[in-house]
Amino acid sequence: MSVTAPTKLLPEVEAFLSQSPYPCFVGGQNFPAASGDTIATIDPGSGDQIAEIHDLSADEVDRAVEIAAGAFPAWSALSQKDRGAILMRLADAVEQHKPVIAQIEALDAGKIEAQAQGDVQNLVDTLRYFVKLAGNVETREKIDAPGFDAWKYRQPWGACAFIFPWNFPFLLIGWGISPALAAGNTVVIKPAEDTSLSAIYLARLAKEVGVPDGVINVITGSGARAGAALSNNSQIKRMSFTGSPEVGRMVGEACGRNLVPVKLELGGKGAAVVFDDVDVAETAEKLVNAITFHSGQVCCDATRWLVQDTIYDEFVQECTTRMKKLRVGHPLDPASDMGPVVNAKQCSRVLGYLEKGQSGGAECLCGGDEAEVEGFTGHYIKPTLLAGSLDNVAAQDEIFGPVAYLTKFASEDQAIEMVNDTDYGLANSVWTEDDKRAARVAEAMVAGNSWINAHNVFAQGVPYGGVNKSGMGGGVLSPETLMDYYRSTSVVRPLG
Ligand code: NAD
Repeated sequence: MSVTAPTKLLPEVEAFLSQSPYPCFVGGQNFPAASGDTIATIDPGSGDQIAEIHDLSADEVDRAVEIAAGAFPAWSALSQKDRGAILMRLADAVEQHKPVIAQIEALDAGKIEAQAQGDVQNLVDTLRYFVKLAGNVETREKIDAPGFDAWKYRQPWGACAFIFPWNFPFLLIGWGISPALAAGNTVVIKPAEDTSLSAIYLARLAKEVGVPDGVINVITGSGARAGAALSNNSQIKRMSFTGSPEVGRMVGEACGRNLVPVKLELGGKGAAVVFDDVDVAETAEKLVNAITFHSGQVCCDATRWLVQDTIYDEFVQECTTRMKKLRVGHPLDPASDMGPVVNAKQCSRVLGYLEKGQSGGAECLCGGDEAEVEGFTGHYIKPTLLAGSLDNVAAQDEIFGPVAYLTKFASEDQAIEMVNDTDYGLANSVWTEDDKRAARVAEAMVAGNSWINAHNVFAQGVPYGGVNKSGMGGGVLSPETLMDYYRSTSVVRPLG
């Protein structure tokens, strides 16, 4: 296995890659698949195989859950201060290793290196945020009930499971496990089979900085085997799944059978509503940046751009000019604006939608096919604009590539109706200089998140989650997320 990259890899990255195939990391040690089965890890930028991960059996997944459950009593018995100190050490270590983890992530997920650095920092910030928040949680909270001495007693649940997708492998681990760990739970992480390397790196780093064995466990393997085994395991105390609605349904069903509380963070088909009082050039630039960020493989992206008819032509002109200027290239080439999509299957999926969309009547205004990148035969697609009626398949389905679908609207009411004509409900944005209209439209769009004059906005402390086909069960990044990782007992003593 060799890595062809446009820049020299860091020695630590070379050393890490040379250790392939990677066993899982469970109970503070390597945890190989007894079968010896492995799955290849491909650099989407070059198409080269760069590593292999182990492919666990269902029994091995169950054993990992037992180990996480075994580590729970000691971890949960630590004082919040001691547990927080250990997790802060982990945050510091991740920050120190940011360039290394970011390069691994760039190679594994096809992420532009600077963006991967942002993802790594995001995990650090999220972990610190939840550790600080957990420091203020009252484990005994008085309940005002006349005639009774009553209180809530909060304690962590036990071993919690997490299944993650391939688009933000490291960042999403941070969003998922930080509140669980800070509250005193242990975790079993199943990363996507395409992008497991940064999770393995994190688990090893956790051991180095003194996170007790069994608190952070990483199991790798196929979704159909390892993922299904984890979601069918009746010993897990909570499940958090991030991925497609199709798999989310299966995970939800399995958890439902076992009565395990489940949180689903699923796909989206967000809209951006652009009114004619905006700065057209600036809005076009921001939306083009949003749809090309990580090659459009972002669940909350605005993929339907609804533009007021009076500025439509000017808006299209600005967008196409910007899209054509973007440099598509290898994620480790500092000159690249946009990298590849994650794998050959995703590339065919996106190209398939471009074809189906056009044969269903959509017009292609820009891009529309594969991009050539000199020296690399990775999975590159040109930034693409389609236009037409919203009943087109490319305007209805989640494509998950650098593809936006444009249409015109005439009135505010019509725009809101168009936005809400979807089964999804993750994130939309409204673009206007009129604050009152912005607030009105933001509140009328049916989704977990509405953004004003921006898209893809995340802040620790602001709840993020989906409704309808985009998810259920609580969301991420907020104080409520932390509270989900405590189970609450009402303790009551009648007085007198
Ligand atoms: P996916 O559903 O195919 O896979 C997600 C995870 O589920 C992977 O780890 C996979 O191995 C596992 N899996 C597959 N089959 C399984 C099964 N039968 N049982 C249990 N686990 C199984 O999703 P993907 O293609 O990796 O990711 C893209 C999707 O994720 C898109 O729909 C995107 O919108 C969504 N997503 C949502 C959010 C959010 O916050 N709402 C964030 C990122 C991605």
